[in-house]
Amino acid sequence: MVVAVDGYSSTGKSTVAKLIAKELGLVYIDTGAMYRAVTYFALKSGLFNGDKVDEASLQRALPTLKIHFEHSGESGKSETWLNNESVESEIRGMEVSNGVSVIASIPFVRRFLVEQQQRMGNEGNVIMDGRDIGTVVFPNADVKFFMTASPQVRAKRRYDELIAKGDSVTYEEVEKNVITRDYIDSHRSVSPLVQAEDAIVIDNGDMTIEQEVAFMVSVIKEHCDVC
Ligand code: C5P
Repeated sequence: MVVAVDGYSSTGKSTVAKLIAKELGLVYIDTGAMYRAVTYFALKSGLFNGDKVDEASLQRALPTLKIHFEHSGESGKSETWLNNESVESEIRGMEVSNGVSVIASIPFVRRFLVEQQQRMGNEGNVIMDGRDIGTVVFPNADVKFFMTASPQVRAKRRYDELIAKGDSVTYEEVEKNVITRDYIDSHRSVSPLVQAEDAIVIDNGDMTIEQEVAFMVSVIKEHCDVC
């Protein structure tokens, strides 16, 4: 069973995917966190300055990167690990958010991560969120959703989330990031963000999380023997 949840930045994909995973006993895989982890590595090791990438060195270094998810007893949440370090907090900050779409548009980075995502999906019953899950990673996914909402609704959600975490950001900065990322993600030459023809579109601007989850769970149950 593979459920694909794609869509624009900050549409709440990961929030609903986690809740659905819990309710239906699926494994949740956050593919955005994997692109964020590679971006964090590139920034930290001086291979990326937020603008230019030393592609040859990044390509050489990629096979040494081990990305995995681990449940943290302390936070009670799943965290992203890069080699022997939890990078969960670092990958959510503005520096990584501002650079991730540049790194995610590099074909060899996508090949490297898509292969891992396909392996994870083939291991069991998963719900995976990202930008190209229903189009490239699992074009034969059992159920595909495509999430959208206005840029302002999405920026406000992301802004509230960052402020609650104690980050010092402005609303304008977050809105610019959301709009720029969507533009780069939708216009890159390799697996751009595009709605799969057979995806169910959800505009969640006026929906509560509970309504959204209830709707998605009912759709998934129609297609799922193991849920
Ligand atoms: O989902 P999240 O906002 O954390 O994703 C961060 C970025 O990673 C996206 O803006 C996009 O550039 C990239 N991404 C991607 N393909 C995916 C998941 C994320 O290109 N499947």
